[in-house]
Amino acid sequence: MIIACPDCAAVQSLPAQPRSGHLDCWQCGGVLEHRTGRSVDAALACAIATMLLMLPANLMPLVMVRPLSGISVSTYLGSGCALIWEQGWPLIAIVLGLQALLLPFFRFGLLIAALTAIRLHKRPHWVGRAFRYAEMLDLWAMPDVLLAGGILGYGRVAVVMPARIQPGGWCLIAAALLSMLTRATLDRRAVWQRIGAPTSFVSKKMRACMACDLVLPDTHRSCPRCGAWLHRRKPFALMRTNALLLTALVLLPVANYFPASSLWEAGVAYPHTVFGNVLSLFREGYAPVAMLLFLTSVAIPIFKIGGIAWLSLSVMWGSGRALRFKSRLYRNLEAIGRWSNLDPFSVMIFAPMLQFGPLARITLGGGGSAFVAVIVLSTIAARTFDPRLMWDAARPAEPASGRP
Ligand SMILES: [Zn+2]
Ligand SMILES: [Zn+2]
Repeated sequence: MIIACPDCAAVQSLPAQPRSGHLDCWQCGGVLEHRTGRSVDAALACAIATMLLMLPANLMPLVMVRPLSGISVSTYLGSGCALIWEQGWPLIAIVLGLQALLLPFFRFGLLIAALTAIRLHKRPHWVGRAFRYAEMLDLWAMPDVLLAGGILGYGRVAVVMPARIQPGGWCLIAAALLSMLTRATLDRRAVWQRIGAPTSFVSKKMRACMACDLVLPDTHRSCPRCGAWLHRRKPFALMRTNALLLTALVLLPVANYFPASSLWEAGVAYPHTVFGNVLSLFREGYAPVAMLLFLTSVAIPIFKIGGIAWLSLSVMWGSGRALRFKSRLYRNLEAIGRWSNLDPFSVMIFAPMLQFGPLARITLGGGGSAFVAVIVLSTIAARTFDPRLMWDAARPAEPASGRP
């Protein structure tokens, strides 16, 4: 099968019967196909198990806390979103609710439908679209980050009062671990190969599908395999990326200046900024947790915005230096960005456990919503950037029609 590398547009032929190990792009070095430890059957089994476990994880109590003897409070996965909404931050509630509660169901539902069809050797017309949307949602549906945030949130509460994980919590832990296993066993290239495609060929004028990497004659307007609209490069990629980056850059100081959350004790508020939270954890002797929060909430957003800005500038300057390194950097920036959601998820899990009216409670601040906006904007900026432009910019003399 002939495909174009999603990172550098280099056309290459994949063997019909790949061996174990992995196949790398000859030009940028990105992994095109990874066969060792991958299996459609295993991915399907893990996806079904994840889906089944997500139901009780959403419907059953997550954690029970005992602030005083004889009093117990149970929280649910949706409690945090409801609380954030009630406190007057509907946008954060919607973003966190989509990422933690709703989108995982769509992601795994579509994945199960597509993989089941492949497993039964059926090729319904919707299978390519279903798998394309499942892959798109992988960026936004993140049970693994939710689990890490949940553990952090549970830890914050467990140091001040007795807390016990309830059945919903155990199901969430199992669902998150199985969702990681689904990612680890799924080889998207093998799935696309099994969905199949019309015989592709290399001609002078060709386009590559940006969703499934299939190379097609220039006459096609949409991909016959996955239904995506065909563009030679992502439309207005630089303009969109730069606009999103600038907005994120403006919001970054706001997110770090204003308090993200406040702890109220006996009517007195103790506000914390994102960085202030890291410092106070460090002072209280939780250095590893402080380091983790520093990495995910401070270092990764700055690194991601700076990294994509550098890649975008290098396209505008027509720089042809270190292209393989830049391609690798782009792939890593996309992969690590999701972990910035760790702190918002931990607040979403632990805030409902600390609501005791005038005695003690947690309220969200403006810094929190700016922080969530920075993460969402930088994630979309990474997605709208087209890494193939870096390779185009480095070879302006080459006729553009020669490359898909
Ligand atoms: Zn490549
Ligand atoms: Zn396609």
